[in-house]
This record gives sequence, structure tokens and C-alpha cells, in this order.
Amino acid sequence: MELAEHRSLDEGYLVQNYGTRLQMAFVRGEGCWLYDSEGRRYLDWLAGIAVNTLGYGHPRLVEALCEQVRAITHSSNYFYIGPQAKLGRHLVELSGLDRAFFCNSGAEANEALLKLARRWSAAMFGEGVRPGVITFGNSFHGRTLATLTATAQGRIQEGYAPLMPGFKHAPFNDLAAAREAVDETTCAILVEPIQGEGGINPADEAFLKGLRALCDERGLLLLLDEVQCGIGRAGTMFCYEQYGFLPDAVALAKGLGGGVPIGAVVCSQELADQLKPGSHGTTFGGNHLATRAGLTVVETILEDGLLAHVRDVGTRLKAGLDALCERSNLAVSARGRGLMLGLQLAEDRAAALRDACAAEGLIVNAVKPDTVRIVPPLVISADEVDEGLARLERAVAAVG
Ligand SMILES: *Cc1c(COP(=O)(O)O)cnc(C)c1O
Repeated sequence: MELAEHRSLDEGYLVQNYGTRLQMAFVRGEGCWLYDSEGRRYLDWLAGIAVNTLGYGHPRLVEALCEQVRAITHSSNYFYIGPQAKLGRHLVELSGLDRAFFCNSGAEANEALLKLARRWSAAMFGEGVRPGVITFGNSFHGRTLATLTATAQGRIQEGYAPLMPGFKHAPFNDLAAAREAVDETTCAILVEPIQGEGGINPADEAFLKGLRALCDERGLLLLLDEVQCGIGRAGTMFCYEQYGFLPDAVALAKGLGGGVPIGAVVCSQELADQLKPGSHGTTFGGNHLATRAGLTVVETILEDGLLAHVRDVGTRLKAGLDALCERSNLAVSARGRGLMLGLQLAEDRAAALRDACAAEGLIVNAVKPDTVRIVPPLVISADEVDEGLARLERAVAAVG
């Protein structure tokens, strides 16, 4: 299809909630490289928003998915589902938690966290007595009514009143404010260890550990949203491993399916016990196709040593960005962990830099007006890091 036809179909038939799309249509990928409908080739530092963990056309994932599609893709949760149980075992063993539940997206995973918190609170304190959840400024937890209420960003909540009761927002990385926000109605704290949509903002170690201690002290649940930073992206399977504590539950999605939609919650036995038969469920969640994808992604990360690889190439990429910042007036600093990095600009030029990168054959995203997000596939090579840095440097020079 020509770009003009793409545009006319999109504008003629689709809800325009994404605004005008970037003028590219990708038709194929290979490793960390994307090819568009005009035959142009790009190095991909976005990975479909931290989704395409193994890049494109990964032989092991392609093989597993083809085999699964030929065998069976969906049977419903009335029946045993082999890859669901195997992926559940991996996530439980790797997380240090006890039980897994599968759904279809990040919003659904967080919705399940919030429902778990409500059920636990009802069992502990009586229904409706302590329903409160504290979340943080610039967070992003999804687009359902509960998760957009949890999301502390006004533009995402606009026009959806009345929002869900029971949420309070505190400033991110401010432990004293979180402590202050806890009251007699609070049952849980929900936080991203590294904020993604909020602009790649890592939680300070003292803040996260302090939240765990605060939750222990006040008898609250600590719920982690690792939808973006989990599944190897930060250099460990779960980002929280780097802080040396366990949450009560963690939400996963984006990178777990390597491009196939999937969400998951991994939680303590105490929380799992709250979801009695019939209390929660989903038709598609955990089906053969999605969990075979998740199983293959997790096993490939483990067997191919991708966690150490992410730490290595992540360090190289961060060092390259730091060096670029020293030579540039536009790029100020880089932040993040592993292959989840943000490049801070001196001015609101992230969209211009994104476009200049595309002109150089590099895909990045303007996550904030002054921040570029860099979340490549975890399989990116050191050479591809260097190649991308060279392209980024030319784009920075072009923008000024
Ligand atoms: C993307 C994201 C979500 C929402 O996931 P969807 O699959 O779009 O519903 C929730 N939390 C975080 C941290 C995310 O990055």
C-alpha cells in the first residue's frame, strides 16, 4: 500500500484517537531493523514501545508461534492450557512470589492488581473500609477507568468524570509525601520502579525501599507496575530484583509476549487466596498463543544470557549517550537502567529530534516534549548500539 492510501483509509475509517500518525508504515522486520512500505530501512530503538523483546523474526519465536498456531491458539480457561501453566511456573520461580494470573494487556494487569488489593482489603478490614490506593505524579498505569484514575496525569483523565473513588496521588521520589498520604483508608501503594510514559524516570533506591518499609510498617500492599520495565528490560528479569525486596504483587505486559498481546500478574499466596473461583477472569487471558509467546520470550532470555547482555549493551548505550551530551548543547543528560533509557533535551525539541532520527534511519520516540525514549529490542548488538549512536549524533546536529 502507498502512504497516501494508508492515510486516506486511516482518516476515512478509523477513530482518530492517535492523531495524525508518523508517516511510516512498517511492513517487515529482521532483528533490530525495520523496513517500511517505501523500502526504507531503520534501526529500531523503540521496539513497538518496549514490546518486541526479541526484535523481529526471531527464529525461535517464529518457530514456536507457527507450531502453536498450527496446533491450537485458544481453548478458553475452562480447560488446562499447557503453555499458560509452564509460563506461570517460570514467572513464579523467577519472581520469588507464589502465583500467576494471565490477562491481555498492561491496563488489565494493573486492573487485576487493583481488584486484588480491594479483595484483600475487604477480607482484612471489611468491604469499603480501606479501599485507598496511593499512586505517584507522572505515573502511567493504563486506560481503563480504574487505571486511568490511578494514572496521575490530568490529560489522560480529562472528560472521564466521575473517576473511581479511593485514589490519592503523591509526588514521585518523595518518601515523606508518600508517608504523609497514607491514612486510615489506605490499603496499597502502586508504583512503577522506572516510570515509562512519564518520561523514563527511575525511582530512587531510597524511595522504593522506603515504600516497602512504609508498607510493612502500616500493613499496606506494595504493588509494582513493571509493565514497561519488567521482563529483562532493566537488566534483570524483574526490575525490583535490583533493589533487594519483594513486592506483594507485580504487573507485567509489554515485553512479555515479544509482540503478541499478553498481560500478567504475579502475586503472593496471601493475595492469590483472595481471588476465589468466579471472582475474576478473562476469556482470552493466558490462551495458548499468547502464553506460548511469553514462554518462548522468557526461555530465550534465560537460555541466551540476555539479562547480562542487556546490562552490557545498556552500559555501552548509556556511556555513548553521556558522551553525546558532553558534545551537544541540545542533549543534556541520559537516565534509566539497562535498555530503558531517556535522553533529556535542553528544550522542547524531542519531536523534531525524533523526526531527524527517522530521516537518518533510526526509530526513537518523543515520550515527553523534552525527552526522547530509547527502548530497543533486548537482542540489540554492540555494533547496532554504535550505529544508532552515530545516527543519533547526526540527527542531534541536524536539529541544532
Ligand atoms: C504501557 C503501560 C501500561 C498500559 O499497558 P496497555 O497494554 O497499553 O494497557 C501500564 N503501565 C505501564 C507502566 C505501561 O508502560
